[in-house]
Amino acid sequence: MSDRFQAVMPVAPRPEVVFVAGEGSWLIDEAGKRYLDFVQGWAVNALGHGHPSLIRALQEQVPRLINASPAFYNEPMLKLAGMLVDHSAFDHVFFANTGAEANEGAIKLARKWGALNRDGAHKLITFAHGFHGRTLATMSASGKPGWEGLFEPKVPGFVKVPYNDIDAVETAIDDDTVAVMLEPIQGEAGVIPADPVFVRDLRTLTAERELLLILDEVQTGMGRTGDLFAYQGFGVEPDIMTLGKGIGGGVPLAALLAKEAVSCFDPGDQGGTYGGNPLACAAGCAVLETVLQPGFLASVRATGSYLQHRLDQLSYSHGLGDVRGRGLLLGLDTTDRDAPALAKRAFERGLLINAPRSDTLRFMPALTVSLAEIDQMAECLDEILEEGV
Ligand code: PLP
Repeated sequence: MSDRFQAVMPVAPRPEVVFVAGEGSWLIDEAGKRYLDFVQGWAVNALGHGHPSLIRALQEQVPRLINASPAFYNEPMLKLAGMLVDHSAFDHVFFANTGAEANEGAIKLARKWGALNRDGAHKLITFAHGFHGRTLATMSASGKPGWEGLFEPKVPGFVKVPYNDIDAVETAIDDDTVAVMLEPIQGEAGVIPADPVFVRDLRTLTAERELLLILDEVQTGMGRTGDLFAYQGFGVEPDIMTLGKGIGGGVPLAALLAKEAVSCFDPGDQGGTYGGNPLACAAGCAVLETVLQPGFLASVRATGSYLQHRLDQLSYSHGLGDVRGRGLLLGLDTTDRDAPALAKRAFERGLLINAPRSDTLRFMPALTVSLAEIDQMAECLDEILEEGV
């Protein structure tokens, strides 16, 4: 490894490339090489790189106020909280900086609600292969294979059951259970969508048993699936939802949203130095205003269908498996083709795609990706598959 990379803690196997600029669906490295970006910071840059609305919002906010303190209100915080409440089923918003932090908040809120309303019930049912973040509690909530022995002892009180299995959830419920928490699409697991019938059954079951339903929409929220929030596509309302990634368009921002009936934090229960800071919230307002513009979500659905169609064609011509997911969060089953090796070859050729599993490629381009860029991605992947990695 070259000396210039030595000071950065090696928590990820990074290629020795330094990125210096981004434009829409393109990332540019210091040698001037352009990469077609279908990763977008792991579904973070919802509007792509350098979207004019996001740049304008940040440029206007920087000279006005970057941080007032989480102990004070500020204008972008109020505006973004108001917009999120107006466009969702929730009444209160807590702002955080990362998806994991928002999920920690959701776990704490559920436990506080259990302490107040359910005689101290505190256990959460979560799902095999689920991913909720890398803090100790969210790692404990996650069902990522390989994490079982890490950083023990984990936070107790998480019971894992198979995804899309309502009987397993019912069997796992006991007097200490307070909530069920899931991703609408398990992204890290390889883009595995929740069955809509399962989600509706889960809503009925949790309501009957006085349990909270928590949806982790860190990856699926903010238009990624073609609905503003994925829960809207299921026709059910959770009690708590978390957002991250796309909400800040690349600026660190996350949120915990709750219905009034379960919003039981008292002052001092939850907080954080940067929570609700004006700069990040100004970014969030710009993203949400853009996503809410007439036609934006319809265009995500249309480009999502086109991406699905191009991936179906690749699957057909190369004898691959299913295309899974919704909107612009799609996974391609590569069957016996080594997905990480395909992603590595794609990187060398200037295409960024992700392989969350040995047999799955994940596609999470900017919500503003063009049909021509989808064609370019598909042609590049076609050539790589043809070469036979
Ligand atoms: N929840 C889900 C569903 C995610 O996909 C992720 C990140 O990939 C997280 C939580 C954690 O978010 P962050 O990395 O911002 O802490």
